[in-house]
Amino acid sequence: MINNKLTKQELSRYSRHLVLPEVRIKGQEKIKQSKVLIVGAGGLGSPVALYLAAAGIGTIGIVDFDKVEENNLQRQIIHSTKDLGTKKTESAKNSINNLNPNVKVNLHNVKLDSKNALEIIKKYDVVIDGSDNFPTRYLVNDACVLLNKPDVYGSIFKFEGHVSVFNFDNGPCYRCLFPNPPPKGTIPNCAEAGVLGVLPGIIGTIQATEALKIILSKGEVLSGRLLVYDALNMAFRELKLGKNKNCPICGESPRIKELIDYEQFCQMKEEEEKSLEEDEINVQQMKKMIDNHEDFLLIDVREEPEWDICKIKGAKLIPLSQIMNRNIDILEDIEKDKNIVLYCHTGARSSEALQILRDEGFKNLKNLVGGIDAWANEIDQEVTIY
Ligand code: ZN
Repeated sequence: MINNKLTKQELSRYSRHLVLPEVRIKGQEKIKQSKVLIVGAGGLGSPVALYLAAAGIGTIGIVDFDKVEENNLQRQIIHSTKDLGTKKTESAKNSINNLNPNVKVNLHNVKLDSKNALEIIKKYDVVIDGSDNFPTRYLVNDACVLLNKPDVYGSIFKFEGHVSVFNFDNGPCYRCLFPNPPPKGTIPNCAEAGVLGVLPGIIGTIQATEALKIILSKGEVLSGRLLVYDALNMAFRELKLGKNKNCPICGESPRIKELIDYEQFCQMKEEEEKSLEEDEINVQQMKKMIDNHEDFLLIDVREEPEWDICKIKGAKLIPLSQIMNRNIDILEDIEKDKNIVLYCHTGARSSEALQILRDEGFKNLKNLVGGIDAWANEIDQEVTIY
């Protein structure tokens, strides 16, 4: 049995908590006993982990399989420049223990999936979802419903953040709100669309607040409500969320009784594994075309600020925004049967540009799958990854 009585040193460290009537020594001991799992040591996971560590959570688990990259440091404040290239879990553990050596940190250096999720999550009292993709959100939600754990949800996009607590005290779950994932490609990710660096700081800090309230059983937990934060207009809105009695996992007659294949459910695996379409090429194929001095025009459809960060040698910039406005005088000099390869950051915008140019009568178009991101990762290490 672990001794959860506070030591003299802890009484001093947490004194600002101890004077709060809502916490006192008893509450701080509850915090010390508690075990919180953080899924993702990224933008959201960073402030969550740091504040929960500072608050004195006894055990913090971190799930992540990524390494720290330069473009993470704009918002993932648990990692530092010296941590570049190291595992995010390791880097997070060091920061947590530098801040508070009393915290026991469990590292789960894996990709959370249907095979390991229940085993990992069952050891914790509260789960914080700091993931950045739909398969993981559904996976975390379903595992939390099956194990009856609260799921403190957060998501960020450009200047907007969402927070809620799912599966708490008979409240709604993530699937009550979104029974099905959005069609692939309709919602760009943060890498494609960008995110203001401080945004996850605010959303993650709210997630940490909710976790502490749940542990202390104090206040009104953000259950049955979705808090929407708009950083540009500095406004908070709240949407009421009801429990869906037809919810496939937490409804009256649930159809989902065990974890499923979430990649497939979100149609990502299918998309990824399918062979190239007729109008697609991969980076290896394009490298060959360049090496063979084939005659083709390479068009970069990203916007100018991205072009300034990096470009593929020999490319011509025609941003998608111009192509969408049919503002393509620049293309008038190009023969309609010219071989053209289009690329963007990861391949979504260039695919859109391809459709438009095809409508304009261009015949020999190819989309570079994976975009400049794949080019930088697989072909040219001189190209900046962002
Ligand atoms: Zn539900």
